[in-house]
Amino acid sequence: MRATLPALQIRFDRALQATYDAPAMANPLLDHVAPEYLARRTQVIEIVDKISTFERLSEIVQADFAALAADRLPAGWQDTPVNVQLQFGWADARERLPEVRGSAETGMPAVCQRCLEPCTLSLSTSFRMLLLDSKDSRSVDDALDVWGVEENKLRPLDVVEEMLVMAMPLAAMHESDEDCIQLPGSEKAEEKPNTIRPFAELKAQIEKSR
Ligand SMILES: [Zn+2]
Repeated sequence: MRATLPALQIRFDRALQATYDAPAMANPLLDHVAPEYLARRTQVIEIVDKISTFERLSEIVQADFAALAADRLPAGWQDTPVNVQLQFGWADARERLPEVRGSAETGMPAVCQRCLEPCTLSLSTSFRMLLLDSKDSRSVDDALDVWGVEENKLRPLDVVEEMLVMAMPLAAMHESDEDCIQLPGSEKAEEKPNTIRPFAELKAQIEKSR
């Protein structure tokens, strides 16, 4: 049955936009929108954005890179693409519980904790979340994740960024130790994966400074 028009789809690629200031094209991830509005339109957002749009992720990358010598910083890491797909709708037939289903992935720039050289961390997340007012006292199925919406305004980027931060491992490393740079003549550095938790500390610091 094809009774309804397709939902409004927003597909464009900010990462590929020219570097000059094109007339401001609204970024749907940055809008502050009522969740019911998005659910009613069964809004779809498919977008490739730069990691620099994600402030918390960028802060974590920057803090991680702070120990690197300037000439070791990967050029243009701020342009690293983040792929995002979001689909808004209702979780219930009575259309009282707005929800978002989504996924996001990126190759996050990081410092390998084995060799202390830049590496790329494959981050991906997929999620389904009810979008309820943070003061909403309705009890919902414990199995469902709930995003607390403040003053009926949701910024989709906040959900995506939180889920990506939660997907971060405790410590970044090259996927294979064969990718690690080894100093000539040195034995392989001793691995102490249980004692290295830089991301956990960075996240804690950034949360605290808010
Ligand atoms: Zn390494």
